[in-house]
Amino acid sequence: MTSTCPTLKGFNRAAIYDLPKSTYEFVPNSIYDFLNLLSQNSITQIYNDTPVEYRGIVEEYLNYCLEKEYVLEIPSEINKKSFPKLSLEFEFPSIISNISVRINYNSTVDFEKIKTILIATKCYNIQLIFSKGFDLKNVVSYLDVIKDIGMSSMEIIIAYSADFDYEILTNSYKNISFVFIYSAPSGQFMKSHVLGLQQIFTSEKPFEITHTKSLDFFNVNITLFTESQKHNTYFNRKLFIDVNGDIKNAPLMENIFGNINSFNNSAEILKIIASNEFQEYWNVHKGLIDICKECEFRHMCVDNRIPVKRNEKEWYHEIECNYNPYIAKWQDEEGYKALKECGVQSNEQGLMINRKKLNAVNKEIWGDD
Ligand code: SF4
Repeated sequence: MTSTCPTLKGFNRAAIYDLPKSTYEFVPNSIYDFLNLLSQNSITQIYNDTPVEYRGIVEEYLNYCLEKEYVLEIPSEINKKSFPKLSLEFEFPSIISNISVRINYNSTVDFEKIKTILIATKCYNIQLIFSKGFDLKNVVSYLDVIKDIGMSSMEIIIAYSADFDYEILTNSYKNISFVFIYSAPSGQFMKSHVLGLQQIFTSEKPFEITHTKSLDFFNVNITLFTESQKHNTYFNRKLFIDVNGDIKNAPLMENIFGNINSFNNSAEILKIIASNEFQEYWNVHKGLIDICKECEFRHMCVDNRIPVKRNEKEWYHEIECNYNPYIAKWQDEEGYKALKECGVQSNEQGLMINRKKLNAVNKEIWGDD
């Protein structure tokens, strides 16, 4: 079995993550079980342990997995050690991986201090969220402050303006990875397109931070996969700076850890980042959180809901996700039911699953298979 294509078992189905190709595919949980068996036993061993009347099924499963390249047949003389397992260790060279800054016309953020923080935390990824009314000159005045520190990626989120030439922006700053234009008029503008590695997206909707998940924003890659094993990929090593310079771990968090305008040196910000309070959610990975721990998307989904601690090893969310892994349905899909309607409840008391009710719902949606 190829270790760069791990299989994630969900409650209702599994997903095979193809990490090098950044794609995924759903498979039944029975395929997950078969791949798991194969990872611990030779196929000969599996045949020998299977009653004769079921060996046809083993063959069928094996052919399916070979055809899909989930497994590779290797000659017996090749040492298995030539195919080491993918290391799940997450090592990141920076103290902070992403800084997000919100900017409006009354913004009091001292951008030189943002530059100081980027350098001090070795952060090379920044997201700038501009409110309505910013023109190219304004945006450039911010980008110019940080242009010499070798950012790997800059994401620009900005409202549509007829006078703004977005391509001049991406042409002038090659490290802009992504421009998201919100409140764009329908049909008039613009080619959502990819310019090399620089992507420009438009949306007619206003910019808002929503808890709604979408497959469009899920990412299958080695960095996210390894980080999500032991960390919360939304909070871990992230820093958010509000329009008035307040420092938070994330936009929707109430805790303010200081204000960048009052900092005298980078040691002050490093001290805040190193505090337990700032890192409270960094290690709350999905394996500890109700519902998500049984979801096949758990290592590709970046979830901005704030988890609530039940005890040392258990967390839950007060806001329900728009994907229900117990029935493998999204809220906008036919047959969707909320958790409670399926007999699943998660709250401060615990995670309670009424198996009888859940089985009946799944039978109604998916039939007997
Ligand atoms: S249930 Fe959790 S892991 Fe699954 S899509 Fe929703 S937030 Fe992501």
